[in-house]
Amino acid sequence: MIQDINDNASNDQQLNPATHPSNSLDWLTRLIAFDTVSRHSNLALIHDVRAYCEQLGLTVDLTFNEAKTKANLFVTVPAGENADQINNGLVLSGHTDVVPVDGQDWTSEPFTATIRGDKLYGRGACDMKGFIACALTMLPQAVQLSNSGQLRRPLHLALSFDEEVGCLGAPLILADLKARGITPDYCIVGEPTNMAMVVAHKGIAVYRCRVHGKSAHSSLIGQGVNAISYASRLVGYVDTLAEELSARDDNDALFTVPYSTLSVGTIHGGTATNIVPNLCEFTFDYRNLPHMTQDDILAPIQAKVAELNAQMQARAPETGIELMQEESVPAMTDNNSAELQSLIAALTGDDERHKVAYATEGGQFTNAGIPTIICGPGSIEQAHKADEYVEMIEIERCDGFLQKLLDSCTAK
Ligand SMILES: [Zn+2]
Repeated sequence: MIQDINDNASNDQQLNPATHPSNSLDWLTRLIAFDTVSRHSNLALIHDVRAYCEQLGLTVDLTFNEAKTKANLFVTVPAGENADQINNGLVLSGHTDVVPVDGQDWTSEPFTATIRGDKLYGRGACDMKGFIACALTMLPQAVQLSNSGQLRRPLHLALSFDEEVGCLGAPLILADLKARGITPDYCIVGEPTNMAMVVAHKGIAVYRCRVHGKSAHSSLIGQGVNAISYASRLVGYVDTLAEELSARDDNDALFTVPYSTLSVGTIHGGTATNIVPNLCEFTFDYRNLPHMTQDDILAPIQAKVAELNAQMQARAPETGIELMQEESVPAMTDNNSAELQSLIAALTGDDERHKVAYATEGGQFTNAGIPTIICGPGSIEQAHKADEYVEMIEIERCDGFLQKLLDSCTAK
């Protein structure tokens, strides 16, 4: 069966949409078979889903990366008696890319879904093809309700690329929606939460700092500007800021680490002990609580950089410090989604609100004015690891959740 799927996937032109799966586990098996590691194209998967949607009579909207090697897919099941309402409604959102398997020790082939016991193994099983599989499985029923005029709220499916490498795809979807005048009421991002309700997450910003000094023999220290010394002053300053962040009185106990964090992750510099180094480079990341912005931390660091720059350039004008942002994913705030929270609580039967430290596309959706909740099958504990799996009961729970969601979209 998996062989057939691979054959279909490799040539979407000849794909017969009638052969698409009709249940979530088969869909998940099919989706895992597409190697959509972020550095590869996701187009085979996207074209497969597009063919499925078009066979259901839906109009698919693709937005591409610059090189046209990757695409987002956005599709709407229209609502209203005449099935012509596409504005407002609810977005189900998932990323199609997965993290690499390089260097990981897998028991079975990562891109072949394998069932052992009560779990389904494969790259993307929980992060996050499981949710996408459930959403695709529900689609024909949604279309049927739409065609018969029973769907009262449009349902949108948003599948993105390059989430795992900095949430690069979703902003294109959001820009496209804005251009088309579509303003969804809510969004559910199906990242793995064991179907619990995640209402907020931290933001992440990654910075690279390159300190350019001036070489000299270490016996002639006055002729050089020591890049490592200046870098270490900045590293020390970052650590001091990190301590201040942990001691603030506006921290949030719903997060496992209840404060914003700053952490230096790599440092490289110097070539020999007897040479004053002319280059030192380090990276650090900042994970901000939703009520803090990335500028809150950047401003003091930039001021420190300016101060050290002035000192360095007084000694040698060609020296200095470059500070570059490498990645930035906004936090997801929970201050605009009370109605959505009660809807999700009603659907899951669990009103506990969670906040998490990993970032998702949820912050981008909330920043676009779309209240967003994260809720999906599987556990983040299994994400990105060897032998990634999803418990099959989780897929069943997600199917049940989406069924109730669909019911809520048809209720008078
Ligand atoms: Zn994910």
